[in-house]
Amino acid sequence: MADHVPLLQGSCFCQAISYAVSALPILSAYCHCTSCQRLTSCPFTHTMHFDASAFTWTHPEPHESQLDFYDNILKPYKRRFRCKTCGVGVASRNSNTNHISIWGATLDRNEDGKILGWDIAKPTAHQFYGTRMLDVKDDLTKWEGYQSKSNRLD
Ligand SMILES: [Zn+2]
Ligand SMILES: [Zn+2]
Repeated sequence: MADHVPLLQGSCFCQAISYAVSALPILSAYCHCTSCQRLTSCPFTHTMHFDASAFTWTHPEPHESQLDFYDNILKPYKRRFRCKTCGVGVASRNSNTNHISIWGATLDRNEDGKILGWDIAKPTAHQFYGTRMLDVKDDLTKWEGYQSKSNRLD
């Protein structure tokens, strides 16, 4: 069971749905793509990708009773899960890649509001920076698309 020890845990705003992941992220980045912008109504989001086998829902069973979902009409292989009570989306599943995306802002915090496991979760780049709504002055690399798979912009 050592590979199922949770490394990161999170929940929606009202905590009616919650999850744990037991592996390191395949990708962790600030995403400036137009889908993230429109789906979250934020200028950019912190997204992490994991192998789906590392992800489990941790709220009471049956998990589906608290879960709403939305299948992206532009990418029908992507299903976004959100809380039926507070409406916050916490994860999406890509059935093509068998990856789960989690949004870093939903991770559990300590009393000071700091994300638990930030060293594991923290972004390593800005992706889809070409469609950014604002410039970010930091030390992370900036990419037109995915990190190391597209043109670097800085
Ligand atoms: Zn909720
Ligand atoms: Zn995105």
